[in-house]
Amino acid sequence: MYVFDCNLGSVTLMARRKPLMDDEALVRAGQVLADPAAPSLDLAREYAALAAEYRKQQRKLHKTLTISDSYQARLKDTMKLLEDTTAKYRQLKEVALPICMYCKKVRADNNYWQKLETYFGTHADIMFSHGICPDCIETACSHMGISRDRLKLPETPPAARRVKGPADDAAVVEMRTLHSRAVTDGNPLAPELEQIISRYAKLQSRFTKTMSISDGYQSQLMDFKARLEIVARTDLLTGLANRWEIMARLESEQSRTKRYGTTFSLLICDLDYFKEINDTFGHCAGDKMLKAIADLLRSALRSEDFCGRWGGEEFLIMLPETGREQASLVAEKLLSAVRDIRVPWEEQVISVTMSAGVGEFRQGMSLDQCIKLVDDALYTAKNSGRDRYLLAA
Ligand code: GH3
Ligand code: MG
Ligand code: MG
Repeated sequence: MYVFDCNLGSVTLMARRKPLMDDEALVRAGQVLADPAAPSLDLAREYAALAAEYRKQQRKLHKTLTISDSYQARLKDTMKLLEDTTAKYRQLKEVALPICMYCKKVRADNNYWQKLETYFGTHADIMFSHGICPDCIETACSHMGISRDRLKLPETPPAARRVKGPADDAAVVEMRTLHSRAVTDGNPLAPELEQIISRYAKLQSRFTKTMSISDGYQSQLMDFKARLEIVARTDLLTGLANRWEIMARLESEQSRTKRYGTTFSLLICDLDYFKEINDTFGHCAGDKMLKAIADLLRSALRSEDFCGRWGGEEFLIMLPETGREQASLVAEKLLSAVRDIRVPWEEQVISVTMSAGVGEFRQGMSLDQCIKLVDDALYTAKNSGRDRYLLAA
C-alpha cells in the first residue's frame, strides 16, 4: 500500500511492505504513481485524497458490519428465547381462567387461585404475587382495624406538578423578541441566536418531560410504600394482622390503658386437632378452613375489637375496655360460632372446634406476663378436653 504525504506542494511516495487494504484498484494505482516517470503531481494529490477517503469509508463499513454482526447474534438469541417461551406457553394452553361472564372478574371461589398457582408453578417459571392491589388497601386497613391515617396514605396521589413548557417560558419569549429585533437590525449573529433559542426550547421541553416522569415515579413510590406497609403488617393467608402488628397494637393499647386508667382483655384461641384436617383433606383444605375462621372472627367481633393471626392455627383477640366477665361471653360466642362452621371441600364438609384462654390486663403487669397467663389458660383448656375456654388466673 502507498501513503502520500502532501506537504508544501511536494508529494512523497512511501511504500509499505504490508498493505493496509487489499483493494486491487488502489494497489495498482499506487504502483503506477510510484513510478517516477509516470505521475503528475496533481494526479498524485488527487489519488492521495481519494485513497484517504476510501480508507475512511472502509473503516466505517467495517465498524458497521461489526455492529450489525452483534445485532444479528443478539437477534438470534432473542429468537431462540422467543421460541422457548412460545413452546412453554403452548404447554399452558389448556389452562382455563375462571372469569365471570357477567362482571368479567377472575373468580376467586373454590380455590381457583390455589389450583392455578399449583398448575402454573409446575408448568412454567411463574410466581404469583400475594400483594394487595390498590383497590383493596381500604378493605385491608379495615380488616386489620387500622386507620388509613395511620399509614399516612394520601387520599389521592399528588397531582403532577405543571412545569412551564417552552412556549410560555419567559426566557424563550424574551429571546424570541431579541431575535426578531436582531433580524430587523440585520445583526450578523441572528442565525446563531436562532439556533440557541431552538436548542434552549428543546432542552426545556426535555426538562418538562423529565419532570412529569419523575412526578409519576414519586406517586408510584408513595403507593408502593403504602402497600408495602400494609403487607408488612398483614398475614397474607387470612388478611388479618400478623404477629408484628399484633404486638404494636397491644403496646399502644397498654399505654392507652395506663393513661386513661381503663382495661382490656385478651383471648388466645387455638383450633383443635387442626393437624388432622391437613392430614385428612390436605393443606389446601386446611388453608380454606383458616380463611373461613378468620372471616368468622372478623364478622363476629365489634369494630373496635382487634383480631390477628398469632401463629399457624392460633388467633389473638384484644377487646378494648372489656373486663374478664364480658370477655368470657365473647369467648363463649366465638367458640359456638366456630362449632357451627361448615367448610365444603370436594363433596365433603369439614368442621372444627376451638379452645381459648381468656384474661384481663391488670395494671402493673407487663404485656408478656399477661400473654403468658392467657396462654397457660389455653393450655389448660386443651388439656381438659378442648372445645372450651378457660379464664386466666
Ligand atoms: P391441638 O388441638 O393440640 O391444638 O392439635 P393441633 O393438631 O391443632 O395442633 P398441632 O400443633 O399439633 O398442629 C397444628 C397444625 O396446624 C400443624 C400445622 O401443619 C398446621 N398449620 C399451621 N399453619 C398452617 C397453615 O398456614 N395452613 C395449614 N393448612 N395448616 C397450618
Ligand atoms: Mg397451635
Ligand atoms: Mg391446634
